[in-house]
Parts: sequence; structure tokens; C-alpha cells
Amino acid sequence: MKAAVIREHGEVDVLRVEDIPEPKPASGEVVVKVLCAGLNHLDIWVRKGRPGASLDGPHVMGSDAVGIVEAIGDNVAHVKAGDAVVIHPGLGCGRCDACARGEVSLCPSFGIVGFQRDGTFAEKVALPACNVYPKPAHLSNEEAGGLVLTYLTAWRMLMTRAQTKPGECVLIHGIGGGVAVCALQLAKYAGAKVIVTSSSDEKLSRAQKMGADARINYQKEDVTERVRELTGDRGVDVVIDSVGAATWPINLKVVRKGGHITLCGITTGAKAQTNLQLIYWNQLTIMGSTLGSTADMHQMLRAVEVGGLRPVVDEVFPLEAVQAATKKMEAGKQLGKLVLKVSG
Ligand code: ZN
Repeated sequence: MKAAVIREHGEVDVLRVEDIPEPKPASGEVVVKVLCAGLNHLDIWVRKGRPGASLDGPHVMGSDAVGIVEAIGDNVAHVKAGDAVVIHPGLGCGRCDACARGEVSLCPSFGIVGFQRDGTFAEKVALPACNVYPKPAHLSNEEAGGLVLTYLTAWRMLMTRAQTKPGECVLIHGIGGGVAVCALQLAKYAGAKVIVTSSSDEKLSRAQKMGADARINYQKEDVTERVRELTGDRGVDVVIDSVGAATWPINLKVVRKGGHITLCGITTGAKAQTNLQLIYWNQLTIMGSTLGSTADMHQMLRAVEVGGLRPVVDEVFPLEAVQAATKKMEAGKQLGKLVLKVSG
């Protein structure tokens, strides 16, 4: 079968489409025929060699997909051949107390499909049966292929961690990135007022069409001052940050007293200065968030279905163009998801 693999860590040229053997389902696993697969920023970390990924042979990239269940291993009860499914990419040990609560991203041996095992940029992928969920019926394959990783991450940040309420004000940094766009859609669905930031007027204007209430171009305006103006000097209730070092000092100044800062990524770096006085004086809650639990997944899929939410697809590429798609993501040119059409 065709698959986008790496055999060594490095820049985008180590990512190649090769012919490799098809996977077989082990006990408790299914094999899914992949129709579409979404790119994520995580792919870049995996390719560049973030600790945790081993390279014994060709490693298949990709953590998101929609497909059709094709083969079933022993001891699989709730999934059958022919089911249209999306994938929860979280992997746990299945035995610890976190796994028992469905909190896979809190498992001490937490891993991700496409990182600790072969991923979805292939015609077929083998997965534990508990990682497949019914595809929301109203979504196209292109939309569903890039749904889960970013929507699930955004859901957990906004709803489970920050407990965003209707009428609250949410600041989302770097609108354009996958999690940021999903957070915009989910925050509007939850009845919040949303402020977005970007250096691109085009992305800001597209975000406004998607429902953003206010926009800030951080290259032309001071984000802290503008947020103060927009919130009547109160500050926002919730900050959604996947940017990291560049936005961290701003977060502490723009969140209201008693507000929540939720962090799920560090695209501009992991080290930042923190004014500790702002944390205790303003009684801030700072929360990390990674992927989501089984409950988050069910709730997110229901909200997508009931709310008729649709992931924003920026561009669809054939699997063979995985390098071009990746270059676009690395250059930050997209708004929403970049998706590979694998088959169908
Ligand atoms: Zn576990």
C-alpha cells in the first residue's frame, strides 16, 4: 500500500511516499481503509525527532483520518466492517487509573497515533478498536478527515478545562492554526464573545466572517491595550493559547481577575518569563491541556452533530503531495485544516 513515511528525522524532504506492507489487525484492533487524513502541527515535531518516536523502519506519519473499517481482529465487539469512522488518536496503557476514567492523555504512557505507532497517511491503518468513533454524518470526507485532533483539543481547553460559559469573553491567539479555528467555532457555539489575533489582515477578516466579534492585528496594534479597550478594562475570561513564548507575557495582562489561561502548544517556543505577582494578585488559573478524554470525544462529536459544525478546510492535496501540504503548514499560510485525500 501507499504511505507517507519517514526513515530518518529531518526537514520536509525526509517525508516520502513509499509502497509498504499492509497492516493486519492484532487482537482488539481494527484496520481502517483511510479516505482522507488531516495534517497537524504535531506531524512537524514527530518528523523533526521529538523524543518519544523511534525509527526502526519506515514510520507512517499522520494522526487524523476518516475511513471505513475493513478488517476486525479478535475480541472486538462494538465495531463492524463497513462502519464509517473517525479516529481518536490518543493511546494509553489501558490499565492505569487515568485510562480507567477514559482520561487517556493523563496516562503515564500516553502516546499518539502517528507518533508512537504507525499513523494515518496511508491507504490502511491498524488501530485499537476503542480508538474509532462513528463519523458525524453531515460532514464530507475532507471535513471529517481533519476533524478530531484539533476539535478535541479545542473542546477540552474551552469546555472541560476553562469551563467557558455563555456570555464570557474568549481571546484566541494566532487565528489560522488548527486549534485556534476550532476554538473560534466552539466558543461561538457556546455563546461566548470571541476576540482573535493574527498578523494577517486576510485571516482576521475570514475569522470575522466565521463569527469572531473583534480582531486584533498584533503587528499593527498593541494586543494588551486593545483587549482592555474591547472589554471595558475588565480583561477576558478565558485565553486560548497554542502559541507559547510570544504570547505568554500578554496572557497574564489581558485575562481578568480570576480568569483562566489555557495552553495546548508552544509553536513559538517553550521558555517565557512569568510575572508571578500577576498570578497571585489576580488569582489566575493557568491550565495545560493535551488532546482529550473519551468523554471529551463523545461530547465534542455530539456538539459537532447537533450544532451542524463543520471543520474549516483550507486545501485538499493528494497523498503524493504530502511535502507540498506540509510546506504550506510550516509556512503558516493556512486558515483551518490541510487535508490529504488518500483514496475514495
Ligand atoms: Zn494508562
